[in-house]
Amino acid sequence: MTNFAATKPMFTLPEGMIYLDGNSLGPLPKAAPAAMEKVMRDEWGEMLITGWNRAGWMDLSTSVGDRIARLIGAEPGHVIMGDTLSVKVYQALASAVALNPGRKVILSDNGNFPSDLYMAQGLIRTLGQGHELRVVDPEAVEESITDEVAVLMITEVDYRTGRLHDMKRLTEMAHAHGVVTVWDLAHTAGATEVKLAECKADFAVGCTYKYLNGGPGAPAFIYVSPRHVDVAEPALSGWLGHEAPFDFDLDYRPAPSIERMRVGTPPVLGLTALSAALDVWDMADMGDVRKKSQDLTDMFITEVEARCPALTLASPRDRDARGSQVSFRFAEGYAAMQALIARGVVGDFRAPDVMRFGFTPLYIDEADVMRAVEILADVVNNDLWDRAEYKTRAKVT
Ligand SMILES: *Cc1c(COP(=O)(O)O)cnc(C)c1O
Repeated sequence: MTNFAATKPMFTLPEGMIYLDGNSLGPLPKAAPAAMEKVMRDEWGEMLITGWNRAGWMDLSTSVGDRIARLIGAEPGHVIMGDTLSVKVYQALASAVALNPGRKVILSDNGNFPSDLYMAQGLIRTLGQGHELRVVDPEAVEESITDEVAVLMITEVDYRTGRLHDMKRLTEMAHAHGVVTVWDLAHTAGATEVKLAECKADFAVGCTYKYLNGGPGAPAFIYVSPRHVDVAEPALSGWLGHEAPFDFDLDYRPAPSIERMRVGTPPVLGLTALSAALDVWDMADMGDVRKKSQDLTDMFITEVEARCPALTLASPRDRDARGSQVSFRFAEGYAAMQALIARGVVGDFRAPDVMRFGFTPLYIDEADVMRAVEILADVVNNDLWDRAEYKTRAKVT
């Protein structure tokens, strides 16, 4: 059993703050600053260039990848770290498209995060082969999986509403039609029980600064199924994905493993902070995390609906149909969220009217939920949001 009372004090959370935004940026693991200092002083400072060998920097992308593999149900040796999620989306999609050369349709849904769609649009322009990005309603994905589709590119959880797609079912349907799947786990890695191997997912990508608590701009990950890893063509054929980077050949030959999805030099400092976060994850079982997150989100929905009649639930009511966030619609949602933040309850806002609250069992418990609802009810029922200072939009909402 995961001991959540033991994981909570492993994070730095400002006194009095209830942090319900771990779905956007996880908090600082208390051990991370010392881990960073050690790598900076003892490794970078003392070893300099020899750190690549002596401190094992070059192996970090795969060793950290293996620690993430456990959390997303992937086979060991099939996850590698690097770059940001948008870049990994491009890479996975390019390789997936190349596996289905006769087909021209990339299928996604309008609940996807825009960056994934933008990357697909950019890839299509670069390929110049007349591919089409077909974006349908989330409910229409199943019926749109046809023999025309090359790749199904889906983000499991809708960032606005928290709606969760059924990975197993959609992957089975895709495979029945010869479609290759790319799954974006941005809002599920560290939030739900992802089972990539069991679902026979083809490619998956995700970021590590949200539920995984790796820190702002932490490196992303990419998974390639053992069925494809030796044939997947890397579109971003950087030197560290080469079979023998230090031969300095003038021609590219991909490494015969997940290493081909490396592009350039590993982000050692980012991987160091992420490793400290994964030390906390080593204490967690994803089944326990998922169960507790469902309990917390159910509790939040019940309490908010009972005490804040002006708010409308935008997330699925069925706990198995949503991720680890709960969204409520409220016309003055932006101002209300600013008023909440001013009172120590930190969620975020997504246009046009969605107030978003993320639930992260490693450091959020039932008492936090009850206190957050109390403050939310005060803000909404007493119009405490109705002040000019809460209505000016900042750059990041
Ligand atoms: C958060 C998120 C991103 C962000 O991509 P970055 O390159 O890390 O900025 C992309 N896609 C999805 C689905 C996300 O939720």
